[in-house]
Amino acid sequence: MILLFLTPESFAELRVFFLVGLWFSILVSWLLLVYLVLCFHDPFFLLHTQLFCVLRLLRTRRKTERRIYVRQTGEKMKTLMVFDFDHTVIDDNSDTWMPSRSDSSRLGEEFLQERPLDGVHGPSHELYRVRSVMETIPFTAGMTDLLTFISEHKSTIDCIVISDSNTMFIDWILHASGFKAAVDQVFTNPARFNELGYMEVRCHHSHDCDRCPVNLCKRRVLERYLSEQADGGVEYERVFYAGDGGNDLCPTSCLRGRDVVMPRKGYTLEKLLARLEQREDNASLRAKVVSWSSGTDILEELKASMQP
Ligand SMILES: [Mg+2]
Ligand SMILES: [Zn+2]
Repeated sequence: MILLFLTPESFAELRVFFLVGLWFSILVSWLLLVYLVLCFHDPFFLLHTQLFCVLRLLRTRRKTERRIYVRQTGEKMKTLMVFDFDHTVIDDNSDTWMPSRSDSSRLGEEFLQERPLDGVHGPSHELYRVRSVMETIPFTAGMTDLLTFISEHKSTIDCIVISDSNTMFIDWILHASGFKAAVDQVFTNPARFNELGYMEVRCHHSHDCDRCPVNLCKRRVLERYLSEQADGGVEYERVFYAGDGGNDLCPTSCLRGRDVVMPRKGYTLEKLLARLEQREDNASLRAKVVSWSSGTDILEELKASMQP
């Protein structure tokens, strides 16, 4: 009966709609069938997928509850400050600082003549001297003001360091400067003195990113951190990423449009980002790019973003 009132055009549209619906139903049926076959062959597959769905639901619920709480209480969403360490927080390279400070010392050469992943670097009885030399490494201009501001606003600013240095150097330097409390977490290569009394540095993690060195992909670290924070109900209003090197490019691709990537002026990251911005097919860089020369530039940007 309805067909009598249809014009040829609307009849054609109805036919297209019907065919699309039919193909969609067939596709869904096939996917369902494949899923059932997989579940039948491997009961763990069923268990894992169900567990995955439950966790996703819980996460979504937590996020929604958190959003409602923030809206109701007027609580400000947090900002995340991410730092590279060498040539960003400190104005030098912690891996090469030792030899340049101890030319007369065999330790300096032995300690750092190889990349951290090569393992053995120096005898432990010289540890106290290595530590005292490392503690003299200068901070980048304005960085102490920036870290002081972060320390004073810990309720609204989280701060992490992602670095290809190592846990011992970063811990010594932050501890000596009194800024350890400003930084919530440090993600870097774990270091320790082994049984033979030599310093041993291992990979931070293993990953499948073909753009980064085998020991560390800063993007994977940042993605995981953001995901874990989201699981705990913390979502960031804005993420700032400050760095200088080539390995700081990969993490910029997981930043959103409202985030800010801050490359140090005149350093590799700035050049790589400029090249990326010129590319027409550039889809990986969504964040705003703001170069900096001193920590004060970063501080101004951070303060401006926190204005109501
Ligand atoms: Mg660096
Ligand atoms: Zn990577």
